[in-house]
Amino acid sequence: MPNRTDLPVVVVGAGPVGMTAAAALVRRDVPVIVVEAAPRPSPDWRASTFHAATLELLEEIEITGRMHDEGLVVPKYQFRDRTEGLVAEFDLGLLADETRYPYRLQLNQQHLVRFLYERLLRDDKAELLFGSRFAAAEQTADGIEVTIETSEGPRLLSASYLIGADGPRSAVRKSLGISFEGHTYTERFLIVSTTVDMREQLPGIAEVNYIADPEEWLFILRTPESWRVLWPVPAEVSAEEATRQEVMQARLRGVAPRAEGYPIVDHQIYSVHQRVAGAFRRGDAFLIGDAAHINSPMGGVGLNSGIHDAFDLTRRLVRIRGGAPDVEAELNAFAQCRRRIALEYVQADTERNTQRMRERDETLRRQNQAELRSIAADPARARSWLRRVSLLESVQKFGIGVPAAELADRLAEPSMS
Ligand SMILES: Cc1cc2nc3c(=O)[nH]c(=O)nc-3n(C[C@H](O)[C@H](O)[C@H](O)COP(=O)(O)OP(=O)(O)OC[C@H]3O[C@@H](n4cnc5c(N)ncnc54)[C@H](O)[C@@H]3O)c2cc1C
Repeated sequence: MPNRTDLPVVVVGAGPVGMTAAAALVRRDVPVIVVEAAPRPSPDWRASTFHAATLELLEEIEITGRMHDEGLVVPKYQFRDRTEGLVAEFDLGLLADETRYPYRLQLNQQHLVRFLYERLLRDDKAELLFGSRFAAAEQTADGIEVTIETSEGPRLLSASYLIGADGPRSAVRKSLGISFEGHTYTERFLIVSTTVDMREQLPGIAEVNYIADPEEWLFILRTPESWRVLWPVPAEVSAEEATRQEVMQARLRGVAPRAEGYPIVDHQIYSVHQRVAGAFRRGDAFLIGDAAHINSPMGGVGLNSGIHDAFDLTRRLVRIRGGAPDVEAELNAFAQCRRRIALEYVQADTERNTQRMRERDETLRRQNQAELRSIAADPARARSWLRRVSLLESVQKFGIGVPAAELADRLAEPSMS
């Protein structure tokens, strides 16, 4: 048997989170095998917001510069009411003394996936197995045996550790018998991308806008290649009906009339969940990204926090490989800390954001507006709000991959929820 420390880490899933974990490991000379069911990296648009703390982390694997070459720097964003207009504007520039990136970087997810893939292709410590599917894992005394299905039949991989980054339906999570508790919203979300400049249609909007409405709330944001408009689709409307060209055109015209219509370059309809895995670790196997937690996209923190999971875990694995003494404490610290952040920050905030957008009770709608206006009008409160929504607060409080001994006191503090 080879020494455990010589064995590769097996990462299941070549999405943005799995490939971030793989890149962070090979960067520190840890060999990695990435197992991906699809034949090639996903070209899907999906998430499009990257926050300050995430951009700082991605510097370590030389991705942040490339993201800036192609992405859009957006310091300001607005909360609006569909009938009344602007409610509050927030400027991430208030955080300029706390981060090198006091803004949101807007970039469609498939570009990050491409950068990560190209980064891994250049590194001979990374073996990429596309078209291969995770099937089973068995914990042994010396690591973990992973069975995958390839086009040539089953293959057994001996791994030091297994990282499940295989998305919301995670086969790794299921094989570990870990629950995925939470709920699914009754409405699905439809996101439509158009080349029309929405600022010309709706003068005064920012490049990112959350627009509350009791009937049809909206989310309008700009990315380098398009403007994206997201709205809820009621449960009784089929996906086919919601995505018919005429129906999407009518809804866009309802947002802002345009006689010639809107060229639509992409659309996706999807179910939205608030779920967190019952545990992020079992033995030498771990869950990160959407395999560990899925959330409403309101606030753009789901993928960001998945990337934070990847760095937290891989920093610990690198230290363990270098001989860090208390392996159990390190691995438990990952699981405890990242699950707590998923519940207390990511899930709590995205649930609140979504509820604020769709609130039907007039008194509560007015309260929400008053609260946002008063936060935006007070620079100290606005700064603390921005620190939280950009995930800087969770990073400042719990760090990323902070040694277990240093984290113990912080984790002992009572939970906020
Ligand atoms: C349609 C859609 C739109 C979205 N829009 C937004 C948005 O607007 N804003 C936002 O913040 N977030 C959005 N999200 C969520 C965001 O895309 C995810 O948070 C992000 O992709 C998570 O990355 P990940 O790497 O954890 O998982 P994924 O991107 O899901 O990657 C998981 C990978 O694992 C692979 N895999 C699965 N099973 C196996 C197996 N058994 N063996 C091997 N490989 C396997 C999959 O093929 C996939 O490549 C959207 C998601 C969807 C589905």
